[in-house]
Amino acid sequence: MRKLLIIKAVKQSLFKLFEEAERAWERGERERAVHYIKMLFDLVKKYRTRVPRPLKNRFCRKCFLLWNSETVKVVYDRKNHCFRVICRCGFKKRL
Ligand SMILES: [Zn+2]
Repeated sequence: MRKLLIIKAVKQSLFKLFEEAERAWERGERERAVHYIKMLFDLVKKYRTRVPRPLKNRFCRKCFLLWNSETVKVVYDRKNHCFRVICRCGFKKRL
């Protein structure tokens, strides 16, 4: 029970951190945005939880860059019949 409560609180802070990251990005503070995403990911690892579904495809797991139309390319992979996002760092993810 106690653990569940903690996880709930952690999840809330994950969303908060993501919001902060987005705001920082809008202000043009890209490094700060990356910093927030890093903190978010550290929390995920620390509590051995998962990145909440709505946030899953919103940032890079490798370089912690916020994903938006500026930072990723979406390509259609004909071979595997799926879409892939390609991050600026070269990280590819199947959608
Ligand atoms: Zn990346």
